[in-house]
Amino acid sequence: MTSIIQLLPDHVANQIAAGEVVQRPASVVKELIENAVDAKATDIKLVVKDAGKTLIQVIDNGQGMSVTDARLCFERHATSKIKHAEDLFAIHTKGFRGEALASIAAVAHVELKTKQDQEELGTHIIIEGSKVVAQEPIVHPKGTSFLVKNLFFNIPARRNFLKSDSIELRHVLDEFQRVALAHPNIAFTMLHNGVEVFQLPSTNLRQRIVNMFGGKTNEKLVPITENTDLVSIQGFVMKPEYAKKTRGEQFFFVNHRFIKSSYLHHAIMNAYEGLLKEAMHPGYFLYLEVPPHTIDINIHPTKTEIKFEEEQAIYAILRSAAKHSLGQFQIAPILDFERDPNLDTPYEYNRLDASIPQVDFNPQFNPFSNSESIKTSTGNTSFSTKRVPQESWESLYAGIPEISQEIIASIEEEPMISSLFSEEEPEESKQASYFQIQRKYVVSPIKSGLLVMHQNRAHQRILYEQLLEQMTQFNAVSQPLLFPVSVKLSVVETQMLQELQPVLHTLGFQLEFASNQEVLFHALPNHAEANQIEPLIQEVLHELELEQQKPGKQSEMIAKAMAKAMAIKTGKSLTNAEMDHLVHQLFACKEPHISPTQQMTFYKLEGQDLDKKFEL
Ligand code: ADP
Ligand code: MG
Repeated sequence: MTSIIQLLPDHVANQIAAGEVVQRPASVVKELIENAVDAKATDIKLVVKDAGKTLIQVIDNGQGMSVTDARLCFERHATSKIKHAEDLFAIHTKGFRGEALASIAAVAHVELKTKQDQEELGTHIIIEGSKVVAQEPIVHPKGTSFLVKNLFFNIPARRNFLKSDSIELRHVLDEFQRVALAHPNIAFTMLHNGVEVFQLPSTNLRQRIVNMFGGKTNEKLVPITENTDLVSIQGFVMKPEYAKKTRGEQFFFVNHRFIKSSYLHHAIMNAYEGLLKEAMHPGYFLYLEVPPHTIDINIHPTKTEIKFEEEQAIYAILRSAAKHSLGQFQIAPILDFERDPNLDTPYEYNRLDASIPQVDFNPQFNPFSNSESIKTSTGNTSFSTKRVPQESWESLYAGIPEISQEIIASIEEEPMISSLFSEEEPEESKQASYFQIQRKYVVSPIKSGLLVMHQNRAHQRILYEQLLEQMTQFNAVSQPLLFPVSVKLSVVETQMLQELQPVLHTLGFQLEFASNQEVLFHALPNHAEANQIEPLIQEVLHELELEQQKPGKQSEMIAKAMAKAMAIKTGKSLTNAEMDHLVHQLFACKEPHISPTQQMTFYKLEGQDLDKKFEL
């Protein structure tokens, strides 16, 4: 028998390993920045070109490498971070597997420049597809610079697999943000295609979050601190009213390492129970410290998933800490966003017997008299000199929780949708009669029975078809705004929006990117209103995020998102004219039966169905 097993050459083994560690430019960014952090740098600069497809450079002022180490670092399983197997349970560094640089060097052109503080000269190494092309001494400041060019130059299949620049850049930004958030004491800079995207000075945690996500973030943060033997927790949860449609700003760090954990995420969602509107995602930045031996980081090559020894206890501590913080900051009163608290009957009052209301008036009151009597003792103008005893009116409000002015102010009125309906409506008398059920369904008798239409979904369908038409025929009517509306976004969101700009333009939007965290809207589509922009943009970004998982045209996605954001909502009462208009418009659509999200828009209750009911 002949033996057929052989050891793979190193460069092949490295390429296979690279498949796990280096999936896209963002993976390289993560590994290089983490190495810089491990090298105790206090200033780290990231430079990328074409979302990292052409070039990724990380420059640090850390401890640098000796001539030998500079050569060795590209070997597989070459690391300065652990020596023994037991070290795996006392990890204080980001890396320890010693495979990142070997993997990167196997699939790209890499250039390393490095110098240790005490040395006169540094080392310069060029390596391509695992082969050292050049090595020479150079003059270099203390620290290390890695330059990675032409990623996957030797694996065309992997290169073709990369997504558009904007999607790849989002991954890069994600990785950058994760490390930068984990280390607020390190200064970070990022440049993309020559433009500065982030400039983050060394600071504290709160300020780092604010610098990264924009000035407005500060007021959204609720601090958390909890110290137990098992775990200490620090960080912030975001006030529920700032929850978003997208899951963007959710971060867990364990021992300064970003991790993903659906289990811990669940603990936080549990703490928010009853505080969030449906399908809204709260932001959080949570930093957990646990003894290193109680976790296993080595269960995944990218080390973003870890195992906790005391998972359940940590869940409980995290949940109660978050709940406590949310409660302490008196966020609880805004439980029901849609309800008008003025309409609530106080519980105590509910149980009182009904009594005949007493008419209370002042028979001597003369509005034309100038006498002092119309002034109350406090100086307030009053129509009655006879003051109603305070307790009698105050008792009316017994049981109503005190609602601060601030909260009342924050309950926004529903936007008016009046502009949707043109002036040349037929007169009321000529219309069929409609009525609304639960401010959700529009009901109208038709020849064969009864039509029941879902107002929100029907309107989504109408808007969706209108928007698609505008996009293809470029006939959108744009309405310039006297004062531009500013929308603050994260850098990632701004980047996403930039990609959508041409499509948004065809719909009548005119936008200007004021900075990498602010967009100014100068004109809107005819039917959109200024106060709808923010939810509308959120909806569009949310859909774009989902779009990554499913195929579909960008224009359809935007039309869908906009229709969703602009459509008449459930809970809005409609006039007969509005209902009539809605029904007519729906049936002028190409596909009136379903909403853009494939849900039923109306239902016909046939006479025969009713007959059947009455047969019983
Ligand atoms: P790991 O980080 O798991 O040790 P890497 O392949 O990422 O493996 O790096 C190999 C070694 O190269 C590290 O252990 C470290 O000693 C050295 N190294 C890498 N990047 C730097 C850097 N920016 N500054 C100093 N040393 C570095
Ligand atoms: Mg490393």
